[in-house]
Order: sequence, then C-alpha cells, then structure tokens
Amino acid sequence: MQAIATVKKTKEIQNKYHIYTKKSYGQNFIIEPKVVEKIADAAVHDAGELVFEIGPGIGALTQFLCAKADRVIAYEIDQRLPEILYNEIGRDHLQVILQDFMDVDVNEAIRTYRQNNQPVVFASNLPYYVTTPILFKLFEAEEPIERITVMMQKEVGQRFLARENDKEYNALSVITQFRCEMKKVMDVSRHVFWPSPRVDSMVVQFVFHHRYDDVDAAFFIAMVKSCFTQRRKTIYNNFQSYAGDKASAKELLERAGINPGLRAQQCTLADFLRLYEVSYESLC
Ligand code: SAM
Repeated sequence: MQAIATVKKTKEIQNKYHIYTKKSYGQNFIIEPKVVEKIADAAVHDAGELVFEIGPGIGALTQFLCAKADRVIAYEIDQRLPEILYNEIGRDHLQVILQDFMDVDVNEAIRTYRQNNQPVVFASNLPYYVTTPILFKLFEAEEPIERITVMMQKEVGQRFLARENDKEYNALSVITQFRCEMKKVMDVSRHVFWPSPRVDSMVVQFVFHHRYDDVDAAFFIAMVKSCFTQRRKTIYNNFQSYAGDKASAKELLERAGINPGLRAQQCTLADFLRLYEVSYESLC
C-alpha cells in the first residue's frame, strides 16, 4: 500500500485533481505515515468494529482505517473529495458521505450503519474550527459509542485533560469526565501537516464509561455550564441563575457539601454530581 500521507503523494494528488487546500474547511492534510498509522492503531481494535471518520480529506488516515476495519463511513464536507477518495482508496471498505458533520443525526447514523450490535468507534483529524461542537455532538449521542480517537489543537486537548485547579479546567473538562475516560495518545508537531498550521496538535482518546447513565445528562450539563459562566466569580454567584435565587443557590451548595466561596474551577466531578443530586430533587 503506497501511503497517501507523504509530501510527494499529497502534491501528486493535488496536481492530478487540480485541487488546492481550503482554509475555510480547516484543511491541513497529514504528510507523515507513522502518525496516521498510530492514530488508526489506537482507533480500531478489531476489523469488525464500525468506524466513522469525520473529515477524511484526501484519505491520509482513511487509508489506514480501511486497512484495519471492514467498514469505514467517512463524512466529508468538501464536494471535490469523494471522487478522489474512491479513486485512491477504492470502495471495498469505504463509503463516503458528502455532508457537513454538524448536520448529521449521530443516533440515526449509528442505527443505519451498525450491524449485529458491532462496537462503534469514531476517528478524526478534526478541523480545528469545529472540534468542540463535534465532540459535544458525540458526547450527547444516545446510541452507544465505544471510543473516539481524535487529533485536535494541543491547547484544546489540554483543556479536555485538565483537572480541578488546573489553569485550563472548565465546563468542558467536567462534562467530558462525566462521559468518558480520556488519555493522550501522542503529541503531534505542526510540521507533519500540509499546509503547516500555526499550532501543534495532540491526539486524544475518549473511552465511554457509562458510569452515570442514570443521570439526566441535559440537566447535569446545563448545571455545570451555569457554574462556570464567569471564571472570576464564585460558584455561588454563578449558580444563582440556575438555582433561581441567592437563597436556593446557597442552600443547594451547602447541602452538596460545597463551600459557596469556591470557584467552579476548584470543584471536582464528584462535587458536581452531589450538586446534581440535591438540585435535581428540588429544581425538577
Ligand atoms: N483526515 C485528513 C488528514 O488527516 O489528512 C484531513 C484532515 S483536515 C484537518 C479536516 C477535514 O475535514 C478536511 O478534509 C475538511 O474538508 C473536512 N471538514 C471540515 N469541516 C467539516 C465538517 N463540518 N463536516 C465534515 N467534514 C469537514
């Protein structure tokens, strides 16, 4: 298999199909085969897993995913690319869907393509401009997802991995822990992309743990977001709008064993789960 993820092959494909990279779609193609191979190895554990890829580009990662899995469904927004992907990779393992992933109904997609309860995994070198909304879309899905392996801007990755009291810790860090175990797969230099972006990247893996499946996720997520509304304010000040008034906010925080003088950045997932327990009873 001749790797697509090389400078030579990438330029060859661009010349052959007369395409240029579109900045508005976050197109930075990987030009180092070892990087895509490592992402594919982390993403796919068994050929029988159903693999969804978001943003295949000209197929750098897709090619390795197709070598590891029987079926890869790839969503691409750029109408110039499906033809290239089929020509370069073939259709045996690959189905390309020309669609903005933000418009995809994730539950329906899983129900459509999944066969015999096969595990579902997502892999992507995510376009930077939609990293967070795409991940939230996946975290909010109700159909089962096994793991998500994604390349993202290093700073965004650090926010996902942050723990209480870290500078980068925010609502996203809490909500992600609520759904998944996270680990860093590797750091990736900006120099393995064509064109080279201004920032370095990181590959992060999210494995869904289903520990809190009995929690009302929409309520929990909205509550956590409210506590982080303004970083400089105390959790007591931020939580008032969600709790209804000052007295309820104070009472609920105290019942949850959280000092109202703390900031949300100092609170752990366990703190927010206790706050959820007392708030759900009184506010629902
Ligand atoms: N996977 C390829 C690689 O690693 O070389 C390309 C990665 S490039 C960073 C991001 C890809 O996502 C581009 O092909 C871009 O056209 C596509 N893309 C951008 N926004 C998208 C969206 N909303 N839905 C689906 N694909 C999108």
